[in-house]
This record gives sequence, structure tokens and C-alpha cells, in this order.
Amino acid sequence: MTPLGQILAARIAATGPITLAEYMAECLLHPAHGYYATRDPLGASGDFITAPEISQMFGELIGLSLAQAWLDQGAPAPITLAELGPGRGTLMVDVLRATRGVPGFHAALRLHLVEASPTLRAAQAETLAGQAPTWHDSVDTLPEDAPLLLVANEFFDALPIRQFQRDGDGWRERHVGLDGTTLTLGLGPAAPRPELAARLEDTTDGDIVETCPAAAPITSAIAQRIATQGGAALIIDYGDWTSLGDTFQALRAHEPTDPFAAPGEADLTAHVDFAALAAAAAPARHSRVTPQGVFLERLGITPRARALAARGDADAIAAQHRRLTHPDEMGTLFKVLGLYPDGATPPPGLEP
Ligand code: SAH
Repeated sequence: MTPLGQILAARIAATGPITLAEYMAECLLHPAHGYYATRDPLGASGDFITAPEISQMFGELIGLSLAQAWLDQGAPAPITLAELGPGRGTLMVDVLRATRGVPGFHAALRLHLVEASPTLRAAQAETLAGQAPTWHDSVDTLPEDAPLLLVANEFFDALPIRQFQRDGDGWRERHVGLDGTTLTLGLGPAAPRPELAARLEDTTDGDIVETCPAAAPITSAIAQRIATQGGAALIIDYGDWTSLGDTFQALRAHEPTDPFAAPGEADLTAHVDFAALAAAAAPARHSRVTPQGVFLERLGITPRARALAARGDADAIAAQHRRLTHPDEMGTLFKVLGLYPDGATPPPGLEP
């Protein structure tokens, strides 16, 4: 058992089972032993690889979409350019490089990063040296007095989820308990759950549904700023309109692993329920949930790939293009949701 596993086992022995959300939060963000708190998990030598780490084209096209949204809204200044969970800062570097030629954009922007991990904050400080970012622990302290352009790639999938198993017209919560000294999943007592009333329509006995308690307040905080000050947000993650079933997963060294085997040592994620984000988007507007491959093709990833291929390793660029857009790779599983103010058009690549 890992040190964090021992801490959690002692707590469960003393006070009883914990929710999956509590388990996930401790595993990812425990200050001494949490997964994100203690390492840089990205890249070939880490546990998983993300779109910006696959190709510069991803961040470039996101940058151009956000800059065009800014132009379409009259190029206000100053503006907040924000990212949630920036990882190594790679996406933001590509955003900034691609938008260098947009007149007035760089002069107008103030860079704000929401990042929980001290290790990754240090990596971001290095990658973005010269940009003088301001770091935040949560979206709540993002400026409220300027338009907000925001991107979040693979951020919402890291937020803690709860799971409920249907039992008649009630629900039993899945808990993390103890079997001897081993952490194990158990079920709480059946209880009515008014917040899951709509899920009685699309589930049957024994089905599992997931909720992500932090997702709606975060979306709402972003939407409030965009609705009152202007701007746009691009939220990119894997998931679907609504999630059904157990999507909780652990990755270690690019391989799926048991999420309870080594607490703090594996990346834990769950699919994002885009319907829940869309429901929290008022008073801002939200776009259609759009497959990543469609979004990137609309923004011109194919001509961009051709231009890069003409200058360098054409096979590598073709492989990157395929990974980001092909339905068998990230093209369909990953989705994009845009937020924008009433009266504006969605950021390019998305439809109302
Ligand atoms: N967007 C990056 C990294 C994705 S990994 C990329 O695409 O490569 C998830 C990121 O979210 C990491 O930077 C992680 O430290 C951060 N993160 C996870 N949970 C968080 C939370 N609750 N608050 C702030 N940051 C969080």
C-alpha cells in the first residue's frame, strides 16, 4: 500500500467509507502524496499524453479561434486570457505564438492560470517565462472586470466524481471502504436522489450514473464573467452529452490500471458530462457539443498540417493530424463546448 493508501485506510477504519469524490480528490491533490501534487504526469515518460503535447497545431488553432472571437466582439482591451489546468504550459505557448500577428491582441491580454499543482506551476513558469502569468487556486478569483477568453483542455475530467447505482426508484452511492486492509468499492443504502430525477428516464435497475459536483459551479463562474464582460470559453475533454455507466479510470505509464491499487500513483479521470456543463452555462450561451476532429477540421488543421509538412517531417505531421482528428483516435471521443455572450457568435469551429 502507498503512503496515501495507508492514510486513507486509517481514516476509513476510524470514520467509515468515503465517497468516490473524496477518494479521487485525495489521490489527485493531497498536498504531500497526491498524483498532481508530486509529479509532472505528462508526455512519453509520464502516464498520459494530451493533445497539446501531441502537436503544436492543437494550441495554434485554439489560439486563432479565441483571437477571432475577440475580434468579432470588437477587440476590447484589456482582456483576461485564462487557462484551467495548463499542464506544462505547452498549449498556452502555442496559443501565444499563433496569435502574435493579431493586431493589438498581445498588448490587450493579461495571462491568468488556474493550477493546483506546485510542480506543474513551476513547469508553467518556465515555459511561459516573460509572460508574467498570475496563478489561481480556483476560477473564483479570476478577474471579473474584463472580458474573459478561456481554454480548458483535459481539466474537467480530473475533477472528482460521485457514482450512484440505481435501485428501484432510489440510488445507492458507490463508496470506498475497507476489506481487511485493502481499499474496496462498496454500496451505501438506497435513498431517493431528487438531483437524479431526470436519470430515472434513461436508466434501468443496476445502472450506474456519475455526477461531478465541482463542474457546474466552475462552469457557472466562467459563464457569469463572459455574460457580463464578454469573451469566450473553449472546454475540451473526453465524454459525451450525458455519461452512462462507470467511466472512472486509472492510467499509469499509458496503461489502464486498478484505480484502488496504488492511491496517489495513478492518474484518475472520468468522462465529462457535457449536458451538466451546458446546463450551468446560463446566463452565457453555449455552442453545440462538437467532436474535436470536426472542430479542428473547421479551423483548418489540414492546410496547417500541409504547411508544416512542407517544411519538415511530413510523416510525423501526418501522424499528429491523424491522432488529433481521426474517429479511431481522439477525433470523436473528445468533444468541444464553447461559451459566449448573448448576441455574439460562437467561437470559430463551433455552431450555436
Ligand atoms: N491542459 C493540459 C494538462 C491536462 S492534465 C494539457 O492538455 O496538456 C490536468 C491539469 O489540471 C493539470 O495541470 C492538473 O494539475 C490540473 N488540475 C487538476 N485538478 C485541478 C483542480 N482541482 N484545480 C486546479 N487544477 C487542477
